[in-house]
Amino acid sequence: MDTIKTIQYKCPNCGGELKFNAEKQKFSCEYCLSDFTEEQIKDVCAKNEGVDLSQNVEEQKAAEEFAEHVNLYTCPSCGAEIISEDTTAATFCYYCHNPVILSGRLSGDYKPNMVIPFSVTKESAREYFKKWCKKRWFIPGSFKNEKQLEKMTGVYVPFWIADCHTDAVLHGKGERTHSWTSGDYRNTKHEVFSVIRRADIDFKGVPADGASKIDDSLMEAIEPFDYGKLKNFSMSYLSGFFADKYDVDKAQVFGRIKGRIVSGANDILRSSVGGYSSFTTELCNADILSTNWQYMMLPVWFMTYKYKGKSYSFAINGQSGKAAGIPPMSWPKLWATCGIVAAAGLIMGILGRLLL
Ligand SMILES: [Zn+2]
Ligand SMILES: [Zn+2]
Repeated sequence: MDTIKTIQYKCPNCGGELKFNAEKQKFSCEYCLSDFTEEQIKDVCAKNEGVDLSQNVEEQKAAEEFAEHVNLYTCPSCGAEIISEDTTAATFCYYCHNPVILSGRLSGDYKPNMVIPFSVTKESAREYFKKWCKKRWFIPGSFKNEKQLEKMTGVYVPFWIADCHTDAVLHGKGERTHSWTSGDYRNTKHEVFSVIRRADIDFKGVPADGASKIDDSLMEAIEPFDYGKLKNFSMSYLSGFFADKYDVDKAQVFGRIKGRIVSGANDILRSSVGGYSSFTTELCNADILSTNWQYMMLPVWFMTYKYKGKSYSFAINGQSGKAAGIPPMSWPKLWATCGIVAAAGLIMGILGRLLL
């Protein structure tokens, strides 16, 4: 039997191999679940042809340097993998506070391209934390004492940042009602319009963290980061801080990125619809036709806390100082302050404000 040699297309979003899907008559990526027509892929290939490869030698050197100077520590208790620069020895795990063990070096593939250096110092991070606690009187005292503050750790969190070129579409129903009186009659004219909006939209810098141990909503709550302060990654930024090894790759975060893009596309297209008394969205989608990725380290002051068998996390944006977390609640404090009946309503209010 002869095998036919076919061209192997790579997914323009995640780099995975595309397979032809006969049912859809499109090329599909089974890693990030994107679909493309052959025309769309050829378009992307043509655009990438002229890409400059001269940086490669320098890149390779930097990757080797990274592999040589970075230590990997593993936490036997929770499985966290912590990166530290060779002169700083990691002693405890910032997730579960158990001792970590040196487990070797890290391959150069894990070297980030870019980094936003810390601009919030440990002292100011503590001040931000204290301020944040002050507004939350229901937090148990042991969450904010000095011993707990010691556990605040400066961590570079691995992030996948996507620039996406999309073909976005919105379908909906616009309605308009107009009434008038003529003679003895009252007339009502009700018009229904089928509304379609379609646009090429470019999204820049959509972030998703690559650390499975950190809650996604916690990282979203401390956004945004100012990419204007991005620097090329160099080992010296790690000094005095820790970093997480990514364990979620770009194909895995693609679904999250796509979700954020579809909701952004919906907002943009929806804002161009006007002149109706009501509008109902029937469908909104954004096909992501190509993606440029950057793998970067973003600065986060991070703290976890164990309270009555449950683990709580708190984070501060190491660039802007924006704080977020889900604090433990001291029930005795709650009941004592509000009384049982009033508390019910108050707790509802508090739950709504927990994150920010
Ligand atoms: Zn893909
Ligand atoms: Zn651990």
